[in-house]
Amino acid sequence: MKNLLFLLILVLSINCKPKMTNDDNLEVNQATIGKHLKSLASDEFMGRMPFTEGEVKTVNYLKDEFSKLGLEPGNGESFYQDVPMIEITGLVSDKMIISGPKGDFNLSYFDDFVASTTKAEEEVSLENSELVFAGYGIVAPEYGWNDYEGIDWKGKTAVVLVNDPGFNSGDSTLFKGDEMTYYGRWTYKYEEAGRQGAAGIIIIHETIPAAYGWNVIQSSNTGPQLNLSSNAPVTDIQGWITHESANKLFEASTAEINDYQKLASNKDFKPIPLGLKTSVKIKNTIKNDISKNVIAIMPGTDLKDEYIIYSAHWDHLGIGKPIDNDSIYNGANDNASGVACLLAIAEAFKNNKQPKRSVVFLAVTAEEQGLLGSAYYSEHPIFAAQKTVANINMDGLLTPGKMKDLTITGFGHSEMDEYAKTEAEKLGRYIIPDPEAEKGYFFRSDHFNFAKIGIPALYASGSYESIEKGIDYAQQMSDEYREKRYHQPSDEYNAEKTDLSGAQFDAQLLFNVGYKLANEDYFPKWHDTSEFKSARENK
Ligand SMILES: [Zn+2]
Repeated sequence: MKNLLFLLILVLSINCKPKMTNDDNLEVNQATIGKHLKSLASDEFMGRMPFTEGEVKTVNYLKDEFSKLGLEPGNGESFYQDVPMIEITGLVSDKMIISGPKGDFNLSYFDDFVASTTKAEEEVSLENSELVFAGYGIVAPEYGWNDYEGIDWKGKTAVVLVNDPGFNSGDSTLFKGDEMTYYGRWTYKYEEAGRQGAAGIIIIHETIPAAYGWNVIQSSNTGPQLNLSSNAPVTDIQGWITHESANKLFEASTAEINDYQKLASNKDFKPIPLGLKTSVKIKNTIKNDISKNVIAIMPGTDLKDEYIIYSAHWDHLGIGKPIDNDSIYNGANDNASGVACLLAIAEAFKNNKQPKRSVVFLAVTAEEQGLLGSAYYSEHPIFAAQKTVANINMDGLLTPGKMKDLTITGFGHSEMDEYAKTEAEKLGRYIIPDPEAEKGYFFRSDHFNFAKIGIPALYASGSYESIEKGIDYAQQMSDEYREKRYHQPSDEYNAEKTDLSGAQFDAQLLFNVGYKLANEDYFPKWHDTSEFKSARENK
């Protein structure tokens, strides 16, 4: 009898436990993704270009949808974060004058050098600014590396190499070998020169380590440039010179420099004054405008001041050059799909038990203009960076059906890989690193701006192996996309043709990762080899 009673109590107590059937309401809804994708990628939204009516429609739509879900405004009383931008069109002097004891010579604009500025001033110039060779222009404490050491940079111009010392060194322990680190990107080099207080920076172009030719430098450094109005220190002038011009420079130098590449790859490298001065001038036309990030929050229950941030860029290219009689760049995949998944993931969170930590949904502007919306957020974070547990970014999730892989761009940086791996395996998937890491894609999407301020970021989606049709099919489809639809008016939604199952499958996985993190009290860590680790620790 006693035993029976015990058994009865046991059975009752088991039944009284809260039901652990989370799985049945954790679903990210495919129809929700489809609904938002269809709207955002429709012609009515005019390609979602910042500063156009397309922007007004898009940000209103997102605000309405966030409100309908019962989410709270993410920026105090507002669902918007203003992103002030400056458009600078620079008129650069025809010549860059180089003077030294062996005589003067000129470099010609466009053919030999390009120059620009992010200073919103009518005129900026370098006047007899001393040129100093600063190797790769890198300050990397984790590698014990400092190319700027021992010089007061005020008024001087740094001459630096593209990429980082690891590239083509045959040494995988020197930086990350062939895989590009952030130190290899030109954006980093500009920023570091600004932090050092230099007046100017000149990057020596070389096609292979840069991964693009001089023509790309020419086209992307001319015409109007959109920038953030930022308080970050910047040089007066930033520019590039060709490899041939660099050789002229080193020949004219009073310093004996034979193999500058080899010199710069030495860990003990110290900056070398070239004994030369340079002068160049830019006259600017300046326009100001304000775009918007859209932001909503679902507050946590007990760890309210710790945040998981989901992000996706809402902008695309707007109305442009017609291709096949179509001038609207709808950007269905890029990135109406990411924003649709952002809304579907928000809905899934709303359908569930409120997590311990707060979850933020951030749709950023002007990704296509250079990650500007996310850069602005990272310079003006609404939620403390140190309290932000992780960023999960989505960009281009329309895969041709469900994929078996989850390809992680920026694999190896942080423990976010492990979170992704655990959740991927639960869905019968596997993770792989981005197969083209040497091209630096990690630095070309919004998650990067979170990494930069020390927030571990996950940027991942299926792309390599279709569950139903295998690897070759997946490759063929992704090549076809790059060739026929990427950044073209044909990146469109089609009710019959657009397959949403892959986007749902990825969004589900990304929801699961965030849901897990939102119910833990652990902060995923950066790995020791990551250049972003110090940003987390130094604050
Ligand atoms: Zn995109």
